[in-house]
Amino acid sequence: MDHVIGLKCTICGAEYGVDEVAYVCPEHGDDGILDVMYDYDVIKSRISREDLAQNHDYTIWRYKPLMAVEPDASVPPLRVGWTPLYPAPRLAEQLGLKHLWVKDDGPNPTASFKDRASAVAVVKAQETGAEIITTASTGNAAAALAGLSASVGLPAVIFVPKTAPPAKIAQHLIYGARVMLVDGTYDDAFELTLKVAKEFGWYNRNTAYNPYMTEGKKTAIFEICEQLKWQAPDRIFVPVGDGCIIGGMHKGLKDLLALGWIDKMPKIMGVQAAGSAPLVDAWERGLQGWDMQPIAAHSVADSIVAGLPRDRNKALAAVRETGGAYIAVSDEEILAAIPTVARNTGVFSEPAAAAAYAGLVKAVGEGLVDADERVVVMLTGSGLKDINSAMKTVPEPPIVAPNLDAVKALMA
Ligand SMILES: *Cc1c(COP(=O)(O)O)cnc(C)c1O
Ligand SMILES: [Zn+2]
Repeated sequence: MDHVIGLKCTICGAEYGVDEVAYVCPEHGDDGILDVMYDYDVIKSRISREDLAQNHDYTIWRYKPLMAVEPDASVPPLRVGWTPLYPAPRLAEQLGLKHLWVKDDGPNPTASFKDRASAVAVVKAQETGAEIITTASTGNAAAALAGLSASVGLPAVIFVPKTAPPAKIAQHLIYGARVMLVDGTYDDAFELTLKVAKEFGWYNRNTAYNPYMTEGKKTAIFEICEQLKWQAPDRIFVPVGDGCIIGGMHKGLKDLLALGWIDKMPKIMGVQAAGSAPLVDAWERGLQGWDMQPIAAHSVADSIVAGLPRDRNKALAAVRETGGAYIAVSDEEILAAIPTVARNTGVFSEPAAAAAYAGLVKAVGEGLVDADERVVVMLTGSGLKDINSAMKTVPEPPIVAPNLDAVKALMA
């Protein structure tokens, strides 16, 4: 990995070689999240936008020279990434915007954005020779890990809150992961996994602890910029729980700027559920990540419920350094966004994903978005992940007798 310079602590700036530390800055313990640093000259000598235009590998691995994996690393067979970026003219019109796209990460193998990170986790676990891989998760990261691990035959042990939506737990079980339902919150599951992984010597995929997850997540913004012919959007709406996705988007954009592949930094908008909005609060009050205290978090959007966002430093930097904003949306607004997005784009999103669109609606209402800006909304997971929440937004369908008159009566 001669294109990787090392790992840098997001708190103290200390730098380490990739072989020196496994996960976090030893000075800062579990909060000392590391950022992967690259030698962009080496990368430039290996990949260009023109090379990409000729590359028929339509997965995250088309960007392998920009990721922290060995150039010849073998990668899991499941097809992760290169998800569609759909123009959304009807939503744009309703909002008075001219250029709006939705990036639909539902078509990933386990139906969420998390496949991007779990694919990298599996590669890194195999690099270290670990026999078991583990993660804490609200549900999607574990589903992604279970699926990607199954694809290469690597045993996985996962820890999710016992309240996780049944469809997600079904994924974990069907893929054959060993599942432990934690009698507690996601934050509890996270702490537990740190201890368990150390005790048993398992490879730990935990978001915002394992520095390589950001490097998988950033592929989404590479795709968006490539899909937009390297004309970066003006503004991007990202749903935020732990803050790893938003941090990853920021990291990817910094990579692209360093390579000279795009010429401006989009404004990154972080959207949180009102019942789980510690980053909105920290952003409004000008707090740093290390000043934040855990809160009791709750929302229908289970994938973005995090009382103390693990990647809070990167998450705040993403918004502050790009002139974006943090926005809170209510559960009501989140649920309402599910059918609105589905009916106007054909994309059925889980609540956390729909939250990003609810954030756009709110931002437009507050006059934060100019009509001619080019805007992208990240739809991070499929609506099939959480049918119970979706069904709250629609009426019960009628039951009809199997004859023409009954249908005529209903149609009248
Ligand atoms: C995990 C997840 C998020 C939030 O990502 P963070 O990195 O925790 O901020 C958003 N949407 C979906 C569908 C997710 O699974
Ligand atoms: Zn440090």
